[in-house]
Amino acid sequence: MAHFFSYNSPAITNISLAPFGLDAFYLNVVREDMLHPFVSGNKFRKLKYNIVAAEDNGFSTLLTFGGAFSNHIAAVAAAGKELNFKTIGVIRGEELLYKIAQNPTLSFAKDCGMELHFISREDYKRKEEEQLLTKLKNKFGDFYILPEGGTNALAVQGCEEILKNISEKADYICVPVGTGGTMAGLVKASNENQRIVGFSALKGTFQSEEIEKYTSKTNFSITDAYCFGGYGKIDIDLIRFINKFKKEANIPLDPVYTGKMMFGIVDLLKKGHFKENSRIFAIHTGGLQGIAGMNQKLKKKNLPIIE
Ligand SMILES: *Cc1c(COP(=O)(O)O)cnc(C)c1O
Repeated sequence: MAHFFSYNSPAITNISLAPFGLDAFYLNVVREDMLHPFVSGNKFRKLKYNIVAAEDNGFSTLLTFGGAFSNHIAAVAAAGKELNFKTIGVIRGEELLYKIAQNPTLSFAKDCGMELHFISREDYKRKEEEQLLTKLKNKFGDFYILPEGGTNALAVQGCEEILKNISEKADYICVPVGTGGTMAGLVKASNENQRIVGFSALKGTFQSEEIEKYTSKTNFSITDAYCFGGYGKIDIDLIRFINKFKKEANIPLDPVYTGKMMFGIVDLLKKGHFKENSRIFAIHTGGLQGIAGMNQKLKKKNLPIIE
């Protein structure tokens, strides 16, 4: 355990944005995607203190929730395998039970030893209610619960550590936003004169309320202008951008979070949104395991795939 969570200072890659029409611009990409081969990026950070708490409190089973292509499900399954926890994934959508083999995320989780438990979309909405939790306890025994997407106070604490080695050097820190837990950690760990810019992966900027639960700092903003129509939605422009980014900057991006953020950063730079000569850091939160599942969908629609 100590070893697993000990290597936690990611590399920073400084890239030129000239191939994207921004001649004199450089961007620092914080490679959280390289923290661990399977417990990727911010999910590693969010799990760290939760797993410490689970172990300290004598739990041997982790239970969590997620959708069919969830990075969180994949990360919990892989961490459980490496750290000898039994893991249970409560998955949204009963029909998926028959599609495990075709689904790269679910088959990865299963191969890691995660027990997959499929529930209907209606039950999934009520997943935090006592009734379902009691049912799960009756079925699986006692377990440590990791919330969907992994956000709680211990997760936010782990995400604060992302800034450990970069804090002083950055004027702007950009990050993709799902629940807002990762961004909450960054805001908490930031200086007042830094600005944290969040790119919502879904419609809305409601995550600021989540962030306000964990910090009273206000040096942040969230935009959903680059959500491409909603969670998990993408278009041909985004696919082309992701492929070009990999070719030019040699950094792979995922289609759900980091691709959208990077597209947004380039666009905002072109629009002069960032103060001149400022030092901009982008947090690569990982999520690359999601590319395989997205490519399956793209192939079905005869669209170009993510290379
Ligand atoms: C889960 C995830 C996010 C969103 O993190 P939140 O803390 O829920 O905002 C961002 N990027 C990647 C790659 C993720 O897997």
